[in-house]
Amino acid sequence: MAVVNMVPLFICMARNNFVGNAVEVGFDTWNLFHRWIGRVVVLESVGHMLAWTVNKIDQAGWKGLDEAIRTSHFYQVGLMAEIALILIAILSASPLRHANYEFFLSMHQLLVVFFVAGVWWHLYIDILPQMVYCDIAIAIWVADRVFRILRIVKNNMRWRKGGLSCSVAEASPLEGGDAVRFSVALSTPFKYRPGTHAYLYVPRIGWWQSHPFSIAWSSAEESTQIIGMTQRPDGWETRNSTPATAALRPVSSSQSQATVKEGHTAPKDPYPVKHREPGVATTSKKTTVHFIISKHNGFTKALYDAAQSAAAAADPEKLENGCVLKVLSLVEGPYGGHHSFDSFGTVVLIAGGVGITHCLGYVRHLLHGYSEGTVATQRVKLVWVIRKSEHINWVSDWLEEILRMPLCCQVLEIDIYTTRCSATASGSGWAGRSGLVKVHVGRPEFETVLEEVVRRRVGAMAVTVCGSGAVSDSVRAATLKFVDRATIDFSEESFTW
Ligand SMILES: Cc1cc2nc3c(=O)[nH]c(=O)nc-3n(C[C@H](O)[C@H](O)[C@H](O)COP(=O)(O)OP(=O)(O)OC[C@H]3O[C@@H](n4cnc5c(N)ncnc54)[C@H](O)[C@@H]3O)c2cc1C
Repeated sequence: MAVVNMVPLFICMARNNFVGNAVEVGFDTWNLFHRWIGRVVVLESVGHMLAWTVNKIDQAGWKGLDEAIRTSHFYQVGLMAEIALILIAILSASPLRHANYEFFLSMHQLLVVFFVAGVWWHLYIDILPQMVYCDIAIAIWVADRVFRILRIVKNNMRWRKGGLSCSVAEASPLEGGDAVRFSVALSTPFKYRPGTHAYLYVPRIGWWQSHPFSIAWSSAEESTQIIGMTQRPDGWETRNSTPATAALRPVSSSQSQATVKEGHTAPKDPYPVKHREPGVATTSKKTTVHFIISKHNGFTKALYDAAQSAAAAADPEKLENGCVLKVLSLVEGPYGGHHSFDSFGTVVLIAGGVGITHCLGYVRHLLHGYSEGTVATQRVKLVWVIRKSEHINWVSDWLEEILRMPLCCQVLEIDIYTTRCSATASGSGWAGRSGLVKVHVGRPEFETVLEEVVRRRVGAMAVTVCGSGAVSDSVRAATLKFVDRATIDFSEESFTW
């Protein structure tokens, strides 16, 4: 049974889990299954070993047991697999896992190699019928690795005339001192879905490490050959800069007449308005994906420190769009994004701190869907709880972009709560700038927030939360109070497993 259960055990740990995609269940749930099936496998295999040991001692005594282990490859590799499995179980305990995740991951993978090799050899020596399950588990592992590599190559590598080109990322430390904005210009088009995350590899910072981060924002650029005017009908053109910070500037008439060289890139909103500029022939699309990475103690701290030192060393005159660190970076994904709120009349998105990265894409998608008539959503409420008001600046340009979307004022309300705020702090400039954004000082009462939404809801309601365990627990408890008054679908995303 332990060998048979290796199949679901390996399915659950795969990032490229086709079963998961088919049933639309996210990796964190599969990861939970992985841990529990793992515990079952440990119990089954320890039971198998104990049963054999007791039997052997009964038949041949301790001497017979000693001799069997010393002389038989069959028992030796079985014992090797057993020891590796027990060590895996011990190291996987939550406090050890979270104390140093990278150490846990490296040891886990190394021990899995010993475990699988031991099981396979153990079965191979006696050509046992369970071997097929072990082979399937190995095939799942290999397939997952192959798909990971293919995703990396597809997103980040492109063969050009000059040789192989890779994705390059720009990192800049953000105001408030706790996070970095990390923008990766991918080499190839990338289909972004709200709620998705990707694994980032930054070899200069973390060697082989890969860390999951929600894709906070994405912007597509079209590499274009412009045969005539580059000017928009309104006489403005889009400045070629980081799309998130793209601004509009007037075009002089001489510029507008000029033929622009091939390779010029014009930032393009992935949720475009329906008109197209005249004279523009699209040749290819490039996507920039943006992440907000908050500082912890390992990879994220090293990245923050590198961005910070580059910022300190940089000449402010020469800074382009505030980006200070350029590094080679690989993006593996997208993964997740199984939740869709398109069919809900009212959607409440609650974010704690960096959890905003999970929510912004949904807000943009729902507003776009509303203006295009492709979603049922009539009301969107975004509640964001942050420690310092400066943290608003992490995403302020994206919020501005959202607030400029058509019909936004009919659908959207944004409440920002700063729990450690001084009224004069920079982020508080948002208060009163738009009737759609309210900035509060202090912690939100989620029950009061939800009560108000439930009162004014349209159709079925979805509540989603992405934040610390405490925020998720409070929102879940508050949502439970209204389940008999409204049809509410609750979902949560956590940034840990
Ligand atoms: C689906 C998902 C989306 C996420 N999105 C974001 C985001 O948008 N912005 C953001 O700032 N953070 C996000 N995170 C959290 C981010 O992955 C971790 O904070 C980061 O990996 C910590 O790296 P570190 O080496 O600095 O961590 P450490 O200081 O070593 O540990 C901090 C915590 O992160 C966990 N952790 C460390 N490495 C990993 C890893 N490779 N995989 C999973 N957990 C790990 C540890 O268990 C520990 O609990 C997300 C996590 C998940 C699972």
